[in-house]
Amino acid sequence: MDLFEYQARDLFEKHGVPVLAGAVATTPEEAHAAAAKIGGKVVVKAQVKVGGRGKAGGVKVADNADDAKEKASAILGMDIKGHIVHRVMIAQAAPIAEEYYVSILLDRSNRQYLCMASVAGGMDIEEVARTAPEKLAKVPVSAVAGIDSAKAAAIVAQANFPAEIAADVAKVIELLWGVFTKEDATLVEVNPLVKTADGKIIALDGKVTLDDNAEFRQPDHEALIDKSAANALEEAAKAKGLNYVKLEGEVGIIGNGAGLVMSTLDVVAYAGERFGNVRPANFLDIGGGASAEVMADGLSIILGDKDVKSVFVNVFGGITACDAVANGIVKALEILGSTATKPIVVRLDGNNVAEGRRILNEAAHPLVQQLDTMDGAAARAAELAAK
Ligand code: GDP
Ligand code: MN
Repeated sequence: MDLFEYQARDLFEKHGVPVLAGAVATTPEEAHAAAAKIGGKVVVKAQVKVGGRGKAGGVKVADNADDAKEKASAILGMDIKGHIVHRVMIAQAAPIAEEYYVSILLDRSNRQYLCMASVAGGMDIEEVARTAPEKLAKVPVSAVAGIDSAKAAAIVAQANFPAEIAADVAKVIELLWGVFTKEDATLVEVNPLVKTADGKIIALDGKVTLDDNAEFRQPDHEALIDKSAANALEEAAKAKGLNYVKLEGEVGIIGNGAGLVMSTLDVVAYAGERFGNVRPANFLDIGGGASAEVMADGLSIILGDKDVKSVFVNVFGGITACDAVANGIVKALEILGSTATKPIVVRLDGNNVAEGRRILNEAAHPLVQQLDTMDGAAARAAELAAK
């Protein structure tokens, strides 16, 4: 889960990383109140989960609360790279002397963590990485050793931070490592980390990605979910314990095993090219068990998706044999009754396939048709969705 900047700011504050006062506002009036409370000059910052807000006009300095209200009403509702601004952060303004860059991230390909730091921070770190890679220090971090004060000092030295602020920057990097590990993050980025006119080091913009796999031990993170952006179907699927991701197409997909479902998406997208570019409507892996209840839950989620025009059930019988899956489909359709209204193409293969196909044939449900191959079934489902 990616956090908004104001949420990252709050986490930084919780772990002692130096930040400035900040409050979130969803209306110009709230922005006025927040600015008045902070006092003096403030910065009005669009809260969207996309970079480059500054360049897009989503970060504006305001002289006082009235000005903040005006700037907030200009920024609220703005479209930044397809993200509509629903809230702004009102932050105490900083007199910036220098802008630096620091990040800690999970480096999957090298099976380690990575700390990146640069004295050339600000808006364009990607540009720095491309045109002057020597200005961006990249330091591997061991998951076991982590970042202690000596490691932080080494990172700061490698990035050539000026001597008079080296110790302060190292301290911030150590604290950011604390955020990274204690909050189970996969990314903590500060751009810019600034030196103010009076020489203080402050994290002025934060980007944090939390590891969803750790949610079981991070009960506080639930409150950080942006409910307004969540997809209703995904919420319903999550409540039923289903592995479901909403996509943008018309063919509902159910399969067992993540690998099979992924290839089913590809095959349907490919077949769909012949039928006006129909595409898969979702990812849904019902797993190895595939009981009637799970099948019914999966079908009801997919049939509840107004974009879905046809459904493709693609199951390879393994530990759960095809006859059990076929019985699951039949029982699921009984459970769903008249709420099941869209054509369902079933392809069964693998363990005990003959019995599975016999059960479906015997049930002869009017919505269900069987095909023997994955390609054939994908093409039929795509054709039905195109009608
Ligand atoms: P981003 O463009 O989405 O990364 O948004 P940032 O929060 O990084 O802001 C972009 C730029 O706005 C920063 O690099 C600063 O130059 C400027 N900025 C942000 N906050 C302040 C502030 O408090 N005072 C001043 N003077 N400039 C700021
Ligand atoms: Mn930034």
